[in-house]
Amino acid sequence: MDSRLLDILVCPICKGPLRLDKEHQTLDCKADHLAFPIRDGIPVMIDSEAVSLDAKATLRSGSDAPPPPYPAA
Ligand SMILES: [Zn+2]
Repeated sequence: MDSRLLDILVCPICKGPLRLDKEHQTLDCKADHLAFPIRDGIPVMIDSEAVSLDAKATLRSGSDAPPPPYPAA
């Protein structure tokens, strides 16, 4: 997405700055510990659509992500 657009986007909750996460395609608010999704290049700045940064970390960025490694038996 356009980095200039990022400059004018702020968190809808705390009005603080957002950080673009290109891997997960989210905009992160460190203060609220929330990640807002970017769908089809459009940031979804709705608090009900946001996920916690902890939950986002468990999301896979692509459908072809490898399965989690299993310990050898
Ligand atoms: Zn915030």
